[in-house]
Amino acid sequence: MRAASATIAVGAALLVVWRAKLRRRFAPLSTRISNAWCCGRRNRLLHLGVLLILASGGGACRRGSTITPRVRHLVVLTIDTLRADRLGVYGDRNIETPHLDRIAHDGAMAPQATAHVPLTRPSHVTLFTGLLPYQTGVRDNLSPPPDPKVPLLADVLRGAGFETGAFVSAMVLDPSSGLDRGFNTYEAHFPSDGGELQFLGSVRKKGDSTTQQAISWLQGVAKPRPLEPRIFLWLHLYDVHDPYEPPEPYATRYGGRPYDGAVAWTDELVGRFDDALTRLGLRDQTLRLVTSDHGEGLGEHGETLHGFFTYETTLRVPLLIRSPGVQAGTRLGVTVRLVDIFPTVLDMLGVAAPSGAQFTGTNLGPVLRGEKEGKEPVTYAESLVPLLHFGWSDLRVLREGRWKYIQAPRPELYDLQTDPEEKKTLATALPNRVEAARAALAHILDEERRGSSRAPAAAVPLELLERLGALGYTGGVAPAQTSTPGADPKDRIEDFRLASQFIREGLLRLNAKDYAGSAERFEALRRRGISSFEVHFFLARALLGARRMREADRQFEEATRLGPGYAAAWKGLAESRVALNDRNGALAALRRGEAAVPGNAELRLAEARLLKVIGRSEEACRAYESAAALAPKSAEVRAELGDLLRDLGAIADALKWQREAVDLEPRGAYYWSTLGMTLGGNGRLAEAEKAFREAWRLDATDHRNAYNLGLILLRQERPGDARPFFEKALQLEPSFTPASQKLTELGPPKK
Ligand SMILES: [Zn+2]
Repeated sequence: MRAASATIAVGAALLVVWRAKLRRRFAPLSTRISNAWCCGRRNRLLHLGVLLILASGGGACRRGSTITPRVRHLVVLTIDTLRADRLGVYGDRNIETPHLDRIAHDGAMAPQATAHVPLTRPSHVTLFTGLLPYQTGVRDNLSPPPDPKVPLLADVLRGAGFETGAFVSAMVLDPSSGLDRGFNTYEAHFPSDGGELQFLGSVRKKGDSTTQQAISWLQGVAKPRPLEPRIFLWLHLYDVHDPYEPPEPYATRYGGRPYDGAVAWTDELVGRFDDALTRLGLRDQTLRLVTSDHGEGLGEHGETLHGFFTYETTLRVPLLIRSPGVQAGTRLGVTVRLVDIFPTVLDMLGVAAPSGAQFTGTNLGPVLRGEKEGKEPVTYAESLVPLLHFGWSDLRVLREGRWKYIQAPRPELYDLQTDPEEKKTLATALPNRVEAARAALAHILDEERRGSSRAPAAAVPLELLERLGALGYTGGVAPAQTSTPGADPKDRIEDFRLASQFIREGLLRLNAKDYAGSAERFEALRRRGISSFEVHFFLARALLGARRMREADRQFEEATRLGPGYAAAWKGLAESRVALNDRNGALAALRRGEAAVPGNAELRLAEARLLKVIGRSEEACRAYESAAALAPKSAEVRAELGDLLRDLGAIADALKWQREAVDLEPRGAYYWSTLGMTLGGNGRLAEAEKAFREAWRLDATDHRNAYNLGLILLRQERPGDARPFFEKALQLEPSFTPASQKLTELGPPKK
């Protein structure tokens, strides 16, 4: 407790520097905090939590709210990539958004609402955990899910008896985000890619389809009183995210302004959903909250999309709340942060915060019910993309009211009241304010450094990196490092734009087997000094495809240096060495990989295959066995091991592995076929016939399945039964001579 008090003092001192006006509030608040549920716990979140509570008037959610739950249901709508200033109610005059405007009119809106990070996954995680990105470790669209011990809103509400359903429109929010925890229904199925490379950002569902799914679900769960369960529904729409493709009539009506058209189209979907709420009789008992995860650059500050800079174009979001108990026309005077939403909705729903939960945000419930507003909070925001993906500097933001400080190699300070477009930095003119903000931010960054144990780069599947169509993590950068002396992102926006373009083009060409074209794109990036694990890895793959083996080898080597945790890079290195006829070098590469990625079944399997090819069969068997242990569900490993054992004459062992393979994948024709061969080769003809029949039944397009079946019938002296299968094999593959030979041997069919 003494340590915690000391921390409060430090936090307070820094804030005094940042905002002198708050000084007289500190003493009474410290007392109040000692009674709050979040206090007295030793935790790394406390410092910033206290910092923000102090700054915001101490309104953090307390356990055991006494509010009568007039609000029975909760509907959260997140409209991805929606800029606040594109809504009529936020002052836009060129886009029709009547349904969104009506929600604001009938309830409350926050003229100044802000996200903490301009990226879909981490921003939604802040919304649904009430914690900042560094507190959950979710910093990026590639980050693993938040710790299961961190309560999610859906978790808490399901625990309180709510029926919970989520309907998301983008793959970045699929269950790998961890956001499905607590939802009874989590609808995140997307059209299959049909083998084509599709970037993750473009794997999406049209909003009308997601909205319809949400409405259907609602119809199913909403029942008349008194039976009705309380409901929490989250609907996520992605149509405002690029590529903007609004349907008619919006495409024509907003010709040349597809983003605006997508906003208007989304507004129509908001109306459809609202009609359904009314029809189902839920409207008057439902807290309806609309917001976004981030905005869109739309060319301002040189940023086309989002995720790089931390200007208001991408951090400012709309926030609309319509709810029983909230007066029509309510306007929140303070800045509302996405982390405030969790404690606020719990309060409004009358649901107790989970024991031990720590929210960074402020409960705005009292203010929404008409109580006096608290003080302006301090807002933290970040963009780590320049650091994590390029090795440039990160961007950190501390905002309080009109003043916004962006920490970068050349720091920026804006007065959002007089300069909402952030055109003129006052960093040089107001050095004291910059210094105060820097000191306050340093406190947060200290917290982050102390608490940060989760590496966001951990275990990102390579396939996922490829599907992002973007740079992944640069090698050797510790994600917890902050404010590195790397290049100022302001100076690298053109490189960022080019990198985004060339990486996508390079990957599309690689996928289309245009290896020269692909290599050319990645080489161009290297020439510009943009270098990362993926640039080397994808370049190496393109070079491998172009049969430029020596260069491929060098690039794979560099990729393994930058991303030693990626098994695919070690496999690629081995592959290029095999192509260079350096089998010992290939084996050495695989073994270095196994040391770097311990327990990786793929590398072990690659080693087994290589040992088999170079005739070191005993060692190959051992490698296969350990690969099988590492991949207990892999039929492939077992079938191959079975083949090798059969060739070595260990029939009983071979059959054991091959039977395991068909047990694991009974629908795999290949596994039946290989089992049939071992059986047939050892005179167990009837069993072999059964296996080959199964292979043929599962795949009647493979001529080898027909031929094998014919052969085993022939060996049982049933030429009449065998003949049609040899004929079938020939039909499927007219140049397959073994089948024509068998038919010749059989002679003309007996009449
Ligand atoms: Zn997004």
